[in-house]
Amino acid sequence: MLLANKVALITGGAGLNGLGFATARLMAEHGARVVIMDLEAANPAAAAAQLGEGHLGVVASVTDKAQVERAVAQALEKFGRIDVLVNNAGITQPRKTVDITGADYDAVLDVSLRGTLLASQAVIPAMERQGSGSIICISSVSAQRGGGILGGPHYSAAKAGVLGLARAMARELAGAGIRVNSITPGLIGTDIIKGKLDDERKAEIAESIPLGRLGHPKDIAGACVFLASDLSAYCTGVTLDVNGGMLIH
Ligand code: NAD
Repeated sequence: MLLANKVALITGGAGLNGLGFATARLMAEHGARVVIMDLEAANPAAAAAQLGEGHLGVVASVTDKAQVERAVAQALEKFGRIDVLVNNAGITQPRKTVDITGADYDAVLDVSLRGTLLASQAVIPAMERQGSGSIICISSVSAQRGGGILGGPHYSAAKAGVLGLARAMARELAGAGIRVNSITPGLIGTDIIKGKLDDERKAEIAESIPLGRLGHPKDIAGACVFLASDLSAYCTGVTLDVNGGMLIH
């Protein structure tokens, strides 16, 4: 039980095949009370109910400051504290540079980058009062290698922005006992890639990965539990690569 007595809030955690829900499940198994924040259409209350008794689903778009603040207030009202924030909500679009419209740019950067800022801003006061907290930001290997397999350059830029934001918050908040770290997943089999790669392409990609397979959501969940728990008490500002060796640098 690495997270006994801890409260963890996970953005974009309602998709049952996603990284966020796998993280929610593993954190609950480790004793955390979990708050799943997601869009109304994703039904975060139903996802939280799947974790068992004593968890909470809250509706908010991470792009909307007032909605995020309201959802965090609901979490604090129920649990009285927030120990862990996982900034997981994200969307991607395959685009060539010249084809990225203003609307594409806004959509992708708003969820990953603005969303990471807004959710962090909303939980920091509670973490400061507690004198402790762990913020985990889900970036992407795409930020490091100049494009992933599915996302366009605006996605890489958003995820690289997340790394910069996380490092700067780590430096700023360390004195308050708040650690901020990032994870850069490689290609993970979730709904974000559903219907976008056929089996042949997946096999080709797997062959190019040193560990010989795509990632599972639980691979990211394990890294999140490590960064959420006291096992990583001396880690802040790190970028944890979870990509099967896809990028060794
Ligand atoms: P997913 O599509 O299964 O999950 C994304 C979740 O974010 C969904 O539950 C969705 O409802 C939610 N969401 C979208 N917009 C939102 C908003 N405005 N407010 C709140 N929630 C919102 O995808 P996933 O693969 O589980 O992705 C999770 C994170 O991991 C994303 O940030 C993604 O960019 C990142 N990532 C995924 C991969 C991969 O290969 N799957 C690789 C690297 C990084």
